[in-house]
Amino acid sequence: MSVLASLFAAIPVPAAETLGGPLTTRDWIVQGAYLAASILFILGLRSLTKPTQARLGMQQAAFGMLFAVIGTLLHSGIITYTWIIAGLILGALIGYPMAMKVAMTSMPQFVAFSHAFGAIAATLVGVVEYRHAFEMVNGVMPGMNHGIAFAVGFEVLFGALTVTGSFMAFGKLQELITGRPITFPGQNAFNITLIAVALLSLGVLTYDPTQAWAFYTVLGLGLFLGVSMVLPIGGGDMPVVISLLNSYAGLAASATGFAIGNNVLIIAGALEGAGGFILSIIMSKAMNRSFANIIFGAFGSAPSAAAKAGGPVKEPKTITSEDAATQLAYAGSVVIVPGYGMAVAQAQHTCRELHELIQKKGGQVTYAIHPVAGRMPGHLNVILSEAGIDYGALLTDVDDANRVLQTADVAVIIGANDIVNPDAEEDKSSPLFGMPIFRPWTAKTVFVVKRGKGTGFSGVENPLFTKDNTLMIYGDAKGVLGNLVKEIKALDEGH
Ligand code: NAP
Repeated sequence: MSVLASLFAAIPVPAAETLGGPLTTRDWIVQGAYLAASILFILGLRSLTKPTQARLGMQQAAFGMLFAVIGTLLHSGIITYTWIIAGLILGALIGYPMAMKVAMTSMPQFVAFSHAFGAIAATLVGVVEYRHAFEMVNGVMPGMNHGIAFAVGFEVLFGALTVTGSFMAFGKLQELITGRPITFPGQNAFNITLIAVALLSLGVLTYDPTQAWAFYTVLGLGLFLGVSMVLPIGGGDMPVVISLLNSYAGLAASATGFAIGNNVLIIAGALEGAGGFILSIIMSKAMNRSFANIIFGAFGSAPSAAAKAGGPVKEPKTITSEDAATQLAYAGSVVIVPGYGMAVAQAQHTCRELHELIQKKGGQVTYAIHPVAGRMPGHLNVILSEAGIDYGALLTDVDDANRVLQTADVAVIIGANDIVNPDAEEDKSSPLFGMPIFRPWTAKTVFVVKRGKGTGFSGVENPLFTKDNTLMIYGDAKGVLGNLVKEIKALDEGH
């Protein structure tokens, strides 16, 4: 979408004008490319609903974007390609190495960063459209009708909000600014007043498009709202915010499509708007948080129950890799619960090795994958499939996984914390309370692999670590799993 919006920023003549007369062969080709692009976007999204077809979905969507870009480059409104080519080269030079180098764990901030650029493009198209409409060309001022004025105002409001909001989200996740919520008294009332003034100005602009002050008020307030609305949201909720901003960027792109009469932007923007919104809802549901709670709740600012009570009283028990390997080698059923730490350690390949060894010894291995494990939706599914772990071994429904855990011999928690915190069920004062979680303590034995006593993303202590049947194996996940693999192999050699 960002690519398309950027390309349109370089087209001086609105697409609608070129469609005013009879369609030329070139127009037919452009519209055909747009139709193909729209179909491929829809097919891509459909394929992405099944993990086994996710790769195909990405390819379909990428081809869709290729059609959309080619169609746009064939546009008769383009007078010169010089700046477009310069922009494409510059964008590719920055974007390609960035995308190749980014670690999976930094993906949320990378997505936020690229949203910001897409939104800059959409906002600039809006500003250019507005300025052109009221510029005298050969003694004629094109003007703007009410519908287009609304579309341009809407595009600029949501685009500007997404620009600054995405940069804020990036700053928080990259720890350039504090990830903690920044709050002040009356903040929600302040933000709601700003939203009301922005909507009122949008109303004035729609009623009388010549009111330039209304247009620039919408633009300015959009930029300001992006900052003020993201300030009170904690780093832990940023992926939900990014997904919501994604939805806003889609709406802005769709409005751009209406403003310049471009079908592919209308369709792709609507798909992105709806997709981002649905994803935000799914994520907040998996964390048992309402949208209002995420946007206005300042999650992450409350001290943990354990911190309030002066820290955990019991010390966790530990187990050596050698003893843990023996138990795993003779277990009939093992459930692995991976979390953010597995992604940080890039331990998925070693995990598959361990999995295969246990299976070879006759044990059954399954994975409990929580919807918000890691730092983005599907984070663990992606890294496990990258390591070649069969999708059939993954339990992605929390209730199903909890049923399997009840009869498991060993539950192995690898770099997960919040998603296995019993306080989510037992402590009403915990910020995690109400979030559906896995219950690994119902298995006979629980091994927890983590580097030390660090908390999870929510910053709260985890009483699982001091339960009677929990044993800690401290260390980097990749190193610990490597040791377990070595010990199981040594067992074989010893017999
Ligand atoms: P988590 O609660 O963040 O816990 C990760 C644990 O991994 C930490 O306690 C850390 O402990 C350990 N760790 C870090 N690096 C490690 C390494 N190299 N080796 C071994 N262990 C390591 O992770 P989670 O259980 O996956 O929960 C995800 C959290 O993110 C939830 O609170 C969820 O709500 C939030 N969130 C997720 C999404 C999403 O879309 N997935 C979106 C928004 C929010 P040590 O420091 O002691 O090693």
